[in-house]
Amino acid sequence: MDYYAGVDLGATNVRAVVAEQDGTTIGADRRATPRGPTGIDVTEGVLRTLRGACGDAGITPTEIVAAGIGSIGPFDLAEGAVIDPANLPDSIDRIPLTGPIEKLIDSDEVYLHNDTNAGVIGERFHADRNPDDMVYITISSGIGAGVCCDGNVVSGWDGNAGEVGHYVVDPRGRLTCGCGRDGHWEAYCSGNAIPDYARLLAEDDPTIETDLPLDGPDFTAKDVFELAGEDELADYAIEQLAHWNAMGVTNVIHAFAPIVVSFGGAVALHNEELVVDPIRERVAESVMTNVPEIRVTDQGDDVVVEGALASALTGGTGDRQRL
Ligand SMILES: [Zn+2]
Repeated sequence: MDYYAGVDLGATNVRAVVAEQDGTTIGADRRATPRGPTGIDVTEGVLRTLRGACGDAGITPTEIVAAGIGSIGPFDLAEGAVIDPANLPDSIDRIPLTGPIEKLIDSDEVYLHNDTNAGVIGERFHADRNPDDMVYITISSGIGAGVCCDGNVVSGWDGNAGEVGHYVVDPRGRLTCGCGRDGHWEAYCSGNAIPDYARLLAEDDPTIETDLPLDGPDFTAKDVFELAGEDELADYAIEQLAHWNAMGVTNVIHAFAPIVVSFGGAVALHNEELVVDPIRERVAESVMTNVPEIRVTDQGDDVVVEGALASALTGGTGDRQRL
């Protein structure tokens, strides 16, 4: 029988699943992402995890005919490697992925994607109508999109298409993004940015009352959402987040004309009513073209590994007709 594999390389965990030809998962494994010292150590961690999933499924790696990888970037796509990943130690400058996995499974059918492209591939695969035009947006520690347009998963020549978290939404540029530029969407609305944004709003209007631990070392985005409906500043911050999120999503819709926009990432997954519902309401007013369906992924935290598996099953496309 033919088997297929999906691999998710994140900054915290490596995950792998093995499935039969119809997509039924028969084995899985998860390990902590090695912190180096070199990129090869990370590669070996990925291979161990994939071997672990094969062991769990009771097959040998060479029985896998195709594998998909959803990974943190950035990439050298030609080399099939991750280059200088931001959220791993500096000693890790290069993580070869495609070649070593091809060798392990003895097949050259290995598809490497960034995690948001893996996301859109999985969402397309699992969507009701197998749409050709679809966007997956993650709102987590950062913000990014995977775009499928006219049936093609868009990656750009260097694999860096879909960095919509760096859309300029605030021309005043009041907050500086992790990338060093000002006014970017994720500088306001990512999980990492929300505490800074709440502090900025509090400075702007000191008359707003709040119990948020603004100056505490442990203040996180979660605190803001937990005090929704009970705290004036939390409610104001959530409303302002909706404003910027709707602006970012409207820009995405005008650029790519998706029929479905699917959200994932911890901030969206854990706060659908406070984050995604307001986007849906605002986008209906702010889009001048067709308004897409706006939903939250059914895959939860599995969206990247399931997308990687969907890629393996469909020749890197998420198109169910290619099963
Ligand atoms: Zn940026």
